[in-house]
Amino acid sequence: MSIVARSEYTREKWHAVAAREIENVETRLFINGDYVDSRSGGRFDTVNPANREVIAAMSFADANDVDAAVQSARKAFRSGSWSRMAPRQRMSVLYRYAQLIEENSEQLAVLDTLDMGKPISDMLGIDIPAVAETIRFMAEYIDKMEGSVTNTESGVMHFVLREPIGVVAAISPWNYPLLMATWKVAPALAAGNCVVLKPAEQAPLSCLKLAELFIEAGGPPGVFNVINGIGEVTGKALALHNDVDKVTFTGSTEVGKLMLQYAGQSNMKRVSLECGGKSPQVFMADTANIERAVAAAYRGIFANMGEVCNAGSRLLVERPIYDEFVERFIANGKDAYVCGDPLDPKTNLGPLVTDEAQNRVLSYVETGKKEGAKLRFGGDVPDMNGSYINPTLFTDVNNQMRIAREEIFGPVASVIPFDGLDEGIAIANDTIYGLAAGIWTSDLNKAHRLIREVEAGVVWVNCFDEGDMTQPFGGYKQSGHARDKCVESLLSYTQGKSAWIRLSE
Ligand code: NAD
Repeated sequence: MSIVARSEYTREKWHAVAAREIENVETRLFINGDYVDSRSGGRFDTVNPANREVIAAMSFADANDVDAAVQSARKAFRSGSWSRMAPRQRMSVLYRYAQLIEENSEQLAVLDTLDMGKPISDMLGIDIPAVAETIRFMAEYIDKMEGSVTNTESGVMHFVLREPIGVVAAISPWNYPLLMATWKVAPALAAGNCVVLKPAEQAPLSCLKLAELFIEAGGPPGVFNVINGIGEVTGKALALHNDVDKVTFTGSTEVGKLMLQYAGQSNMKRVSLECGGKSPQVFMADTANIERAVAAAYRGIFANMGEVCNAGSRLLVERPIYDEFVERFIANGKDAYVCGDPLDPKTNLGPLVTDEAQNRVLSYVETGKKEGAKLRFGGDVPDMNGSYINPTLFTDVNNQMRIAREEIFGPVASVIPFDGLDEGIAIANDTIYGLAAGIWTSDLNKAHRLIREVEAGVVWVNCFDEGDMTQPFGGYKQSGHARDKCVESLLSYTQGKSAWIRLSE
């Protein structure tokens, strides 16, 4: 059945699907092509934030399980079953894999919705299609990757082979559980590596299925392993493992810094980091269509409950249009996103991922009030049994306030006034982060100036949070230094080997 057909399911139908999935949920680890219990028998609960009920007690991988998963990946890598498979054969496995993702979209979508509260319509409309597209994009490049032959003295042949790195550990976050994992796993697999994935403990369910489908698509056992567990135990043991050649991480800046330490304390493994953000959108007085800009502003911070690394959380508005911008934001943005049951296809705002996240966001609301920002709407919780928070708008924020400096990771917008492009760029850059930025203007010169001067890996002009697979996605400064999507991402899972051949005289 197509994803489109599933998008016509009712709320009742999705609840029936969810009940079936909870009944049959897989809780074990996925190692060497099979589900296995953790060796210690340890478990941790995963909780549905929409009703605070435990969904399942998951197998908890300790250092021994981590070692088993890494050894399985190492053995598979050395065997060449995947790394030396003919490129077009590897491509066809990945094409089949993408197709299986679509065919299993019902199960995959409901698992993420149950685990972290994302609206089911977002899973079907955004996440699942993007997962399949990522796999196809990376597959398409497999037999297009080339090494090189260099100019040398005669009597010598020198060429550079592009090879996989080996065993890749992927450590992923919960905000787009399947998609963020796939942004790592798909290029790593396409390049011929073997992978051990550790999903976030808040959303451990769907990635098990992701690995199972790879085997069903014809992937050899041991090539893609999944171990669940708490970051400080399972993630740490994986990142410290001496037989892991690269760790690819998406998550907070704080934990990203630990990854660099772990690499230094162990085997100097490669580290690629995609971390937090506090992205500015700069609205110039000559914005051509303020209504459209305001709609992009509230979508950019309220979509996915504000749990988005590149969320446009700082709205920098030039003073001549400040009042109009705020009025329109309140008039159109206040009710654009309404908390609801994430299994209801009409819902566009689910709960936050956990009670802890809800409390953290609420404490930022209190901080904003104490710092003197004006709370214009939201900042409270709806009368629902879940980790919900209503969309929230602060105005009259200045960039020194904590709500403008720290990543809140919830649906909280801060509007900051400024005078002139120089000040707009200065405020935009006054942050430790540098993931994304936007500018709204009808003056090409202003747009180009900001593009050149803003310290961010992704810049949008007269739009926000758009793109396709060709777009390198990643940060400057403490937002990390890796690039996901794009060909550059695929190449970052390869290394060059120089072969210098002395020919007979
Ligand atoms: P997190 O840093 O708490 O956790 C991320 C992953 O690291 C999880 O799998 C977790 O178990 C693991 N982990 C935690 N502590 C660890 C430790 N000591 N050692 C090893 N592993 C450990 O982040 P999160 O709360 O899951 O995700 C939200 C964060 O992710 C936000 O900061 C967000 O901006 C960022 N993010 C960035 C991007 C991007 O592309 N730049 C995309 C999505 C999310």
